[in-house]
Amino acid sequence: MTNPKETTKDPICGMIVDEATALPADRDGTKFYFCSEDCRQKFLATPADAKPGKQSGEGEGTALFG
Ligand SMILES: [Zn+2]
Repeated sequence: MTNPKETTKDPICGMIVDEATALPADRDGTKFYFCSEDCRQKFLATPADAKPGKQSGEGEGTALFG
């Protein structure tokens, strides 16, 4: 009954993509899927050790003191 399509999230633009039609790319044994060649190229151009979400913006905090 429940046979959902294999969908996954495009890590670049956040779009939900169908694994059957999306563009795949491997990194560290993990497969990623992309809505377009453009997103795939962006992903491949990003260094593997770049950790999104981790920012070193210590200077930003001082803005709170206005
Ligand atoms: Zn995309």
